[in-house]
Amino acid sequence: MKGRKLLMIPGPIEFEPEVTRAMGIETTSHVAPDFIESFGNALDLMKDVWKAPAGQPFVVAGSGTLAMDMAAANLIEAGDHALVISTGYFGKRYRDILLRYGAKVTVLSAAIGDVISLEEIEEELKQKQYKLLTFTHVDTSTGVLVAPEPIALLAQKYKVLSVMDGVCSVAGEAIKQDDWGLDVVLTASQKAVGVPPGLALLVASERALQTWKNRKTLVPNYYADWGNWLPIMKAYQERKPSYFGTPPVNLILALETSLKIITSEGIQKRIAKHMRLATAFRLAVASIGLKILPKNEDYAANTLTAVYYPIGVQDAEFRKAMSDRDIIVAGGLLPEIKTTYFRVGHMGSVSEKDLVATLSAIEYALSQTGYAFEIGTTLKTFQQKLQ
Ligand SMILES: *Cc1c(COP(=O)(O)O)cnc(C)c1O
Repeated sequence: MKGRKLLMIPGPIEFEPEVTRAMGIETTSHVAPDFIESFGNALDLMKDVWKAPAGQPFVVAGSGTLAMDMAAANLIEAGDHALVISTGYFGKRYRDILLRYGAKVTVLSAAIGDVISLEEIEEELKQKQYKLLTFTHVDTSTGVLVAPEPIALLAQKYKVLSVMDGVCSVAGEAIKQDDWGLDVVLTASQKAVGVPPGLALLVASERALQTWKNRKTLVPNYYADWGNWLPIMKAYQERKPSYFGTPPVNLILALETSLKIITSEGIQKRIAKHMRLATAFRLAVASIGLKILPKNEDYAANTLTAVYYPIGVQDAEFRKAMSDRDIIVAGGLLPEIKTTYFRVGHMGSVSEKDLVATLSAIEYALSQTGYAFEIGTTLKTFQQKLQ
């Protein structure tokens, strides 16, 4: 860690050294046999991580927002009804994207730190024939975790496509895309997948692809059109050369590397580790009287925690003190309450010792900014829970 701060934000995260090394390998042609093999492996491994053996993976240069955009561009035709189940900042973003493609959008917005009940969702699905619904598995602005399976089941009951924004959950929270019947599960490289920013990742179900094939109108976004990317993905899956837009070769090598690390550890084990560390971290911050945004422990995320500042502690001052202790955490993201809370990412390669360092810095920063508590309390709680 010498000369370098620990990046404890909800993406980009800390990356494994093998992954960052892959970024520095001499760049080959996108049709070099070795690269074709690596790209094909990465696509195969995505199906393991998403638990979507029947799904169609897509990997495209861009950020998570492009993955959201791609799902909307390909599945929505002007005039379609779309339902957004919003638990924070990224629900609002999905609304804006869907509107751009001419969807008629209804938003069910949860109160800060809360979720929308299934009854409310079902009631809305009865109102009209929706084409598609979206929800955010973990909203990174609130740390609220939504249970995907019941929403996916409701979507099937009412013949609606389900799109899950898993940018802050894939590879960190339990996901079974095929078993649950989710039509699109999308993410970005820089979060729990553990690869530097730059890749939009998405897995589509057969039903989603069929909906796209049955469109009456052209996809109104050239770059995101599955018509351009599907033949490319299929070619790499069959280990054949192809070209539409030059893939980010080194990022894809890094993706293969990270997905291999994740799947060789075992995705179940990996998710259990996230849960174990997150539970202990939440207990630790609670032990000095801090409150988290999620109103209920049952829907607190395991990939990040959003924590309210105690009264009197200033955001800028707190994060400056954290940075002085070489720990970078994120500020708030919800515009309404932006300066009242901070966020700690604990996904991917984050370890027990990273969180010990983070808690120690939190204690230091809080005591510097005027909050009184017994020094060492969070560390004791955290370590006792993990024993
Ligand atoms: C980070 C994030 C996004 C946006 O991803 P970018 O890569 O920043 O475009 C979307 N949804 C969620 C839940 C996120 O955490």
